[in-house]
Parts: sequence; structure tokens; C-alpha cells
Amino acid sequence: MSNCIFCKIVAGILPSYKVYEDEDVLAFLDIAPVNHGHVLVIPKKHFANMEEIPEDILMKVLRVVKKIGLSLKRGLKYKGYNIVESNDPVAGQEVAHIHFHIIPRLNKNEFSWPHKSYKEGEAQEVVEKIKNNI
Ligand code: 5GP
Ligand code: ZN
Repeated sequence: MSNCIFCKIVAGILPSYKVYEDEDVLAFLDIAPVNHGHVLVIPKKHFANMEEIPEDILMKVLRVVKKIGLSLKRGLKYKGYNIVESNDPVAGQEVAHIHFHIIPRLNKNEFSWPHKSYKEGEAQEVVEKIKNNI
């Protein structure tokens, strides 16, 4: 057993409040929710992040993400939610087992992304750097 918290949850070594489980995917309550009903959806197999997870397993995880989002609206009467998946510590990823947060929202002023702008020519430079690495 690795030292991964989420692998331990999958194995039942650590407890969790499960909301969905199948052969490949587990969804459970985040221990420190932004709002009640904040769910984490993970593949049962350990992959660190979006770059490591195979596409077929990613699709299975996303299928569950889609289901849970709707169930938060139906079951808990939320009007909307954010789906957040962080890659690497610089992006705020604390648990290195890929996970999708489904964060139910009370209103749009709870929190938001900071916004920057592009100076003349910068956007095109950025586009080239991305396009040339796809
Ligand atoms: P990250 O910051 O890596 O995107 O998110 C990790 C999330 O895992 C955090 O929101 C944190 O509250 C949650 N978390 C950390 N440890 C545990 C745990 O032992 N059980 C559960 N259910 N959630 C955890
Ligand atoms: Zn793991």
C-alpha cells in the first residue's frame, strides 16, 4: 500500500462517506467541504494527475462527475456547482491522486478567479506557444 490517502480510502483503510462506487470509480464527501455536499470523484487506481490517467479511465470518472453534479442539484437543491481538478502543487493539488472536486455553490459571490489582461501582441505569442506544443 502506497502512502496515498485516497488509495487508503479506496482500500477501506481510511473511512469516507461514499456517495457512489463502481468497479473503477469512487465518489465521496470531501472532509473539509467548501459547502455541504462537496464531493470528490476519483479513479480507484492511482494516477497522479491529468497527464498520467489513461483516457478510457478518465471518461469513466467524468461520467460519474456528470451524474453527481446533477444529483447535488436534485438532492440538495443547489442551483449550480463548480468542477475543479488541480494539477501539481503549484496549482494547489495537495493529494497526488487525481480527483475532481464537485463544489456546490450558494451564490456567485462566494469566491471567484482573479483576472489579468493581455498587452498588445501578448495573446498571439501565448497562442503560438500553446499551439506548437499540442
Ligand atoms: P486538492 O487540494 O489536492 O485539490 O484537494 C484535496 C482535497 O482532499 C481537499 O479538499 C481536502 O479537504 C480533501 N481531503 C484531504 N484528506 C482527506 C481525507 O482523509 N478524507 C476526505 N474525505 N477528504 C480529504
Ligand atoms: Zn492514490
